[in-house]
Amino acid sequence: MRVCSVSVDLDPLSCYYGIHGLGAPPRELAHVVLRRALPRFAEMFARHRVHATFFVVGSDAAADVAGAKQLAQLARDGHELGNHSHTHPYELARLDKAAIEDEVGRAHDVIAAIAGTAPVGFRAPGYDISERVLDVLMARGYRYDSSVFPSWPYYLLKAGVMGMMSMVGRKSRSVLGDPRALFAPAMPYRPGRSPFSRGQSTLVELPVSTTPGLRVPAIGTWLVAPPTAVRVRILEAMRGRSFFNLELHGIDLIGAEEDGIPSELVARQPDLRVPLLQKQRALEATLDRLAPEYTFSPLADVANDVQREGHVH
Ligand SMILES: [Zn+2]
Repeated sequence: MRVCSVSVDLDPLSCYYGIHGLGAPPRELAHVVLRRALPRFAEMFARHRVHATFFVVGSDAAADVAGAKQLAQLARDGHELGNHSHTHPYELARLDKAAIEDEVGRAHDVIAAIAGTAPVGFRAPGYDISERVLDVLMARGYRYDSSVFPSWPYYLLKAGVMGMMSMVGRKSRSVLGDPRALFAPAMPYRPGRSPFSRGQSTLVELPVSTTPGLRVPAIGTWLVAPPTAVRVRILEAMRGRSFFNLELHGIDLIGAEEDGIPSELVARQPDLRVPLLQKQRALEATLDRLAPEYTFSPLADVANDVQREGHVH
């Protein structure tokens, strides 16, 4: 059996407004991802017996009592809650050490209070990691980071979109990540001084999955909204890897119509134009296809294996 870790980054809507240079979202939609998307994931994962990892943005969970309750229930049900920073700054990797400690530490405390146990895993906003971020995580005893995304197609598309936005004078809050990530191993490894190459660190890096060869992103954005043929090809290609770190986003199960997302964002975020039901069916089909061949494990369990034995088993 291969191992699949399903993770969901719970980026609040303000992240998407920021990426597209749109200012702040309407107040009533501030917690729409926790309120609307999270229960949909919980229900689907329960039916498919998936124990997932939810990467929580600390400030969002701290400000929404209903969302925090739902997260606490997920933790009781055997899901893992991981740290996705406190305010999701896209420039996290470039901040000074005190600011990084603040971002990691505040989210750490919020998540520990919700889950009843301290988080052991981290995912950086925008997949951008640095030596300083790893130092902060190791000092706190984190067992793994899962931020490296060694995908050329993703990097080039992102650079293209950001370049076009700046040409028309729109300011994105997004940051083009460290290009060293493109040369990082695609499978779990123990980093060294650099987060992007093998070494002797006690902390494990669990890269977000890309296909063998072309390193096409094997993430929700490329599996849930695009045509079925794309999904089938990506899942087929992933059979060439023994471990599948399947990263989803909360917004993957948000519907523009169903959840009242303003047209200003829908116009710029193509996956919001796909009906919710269609995306739910695509994710169901993905899990159905993986279930016979994969064991679903939270990322923390995979990190344990890699620490103990040097590989996923
Ligand atoms: Zn994020």
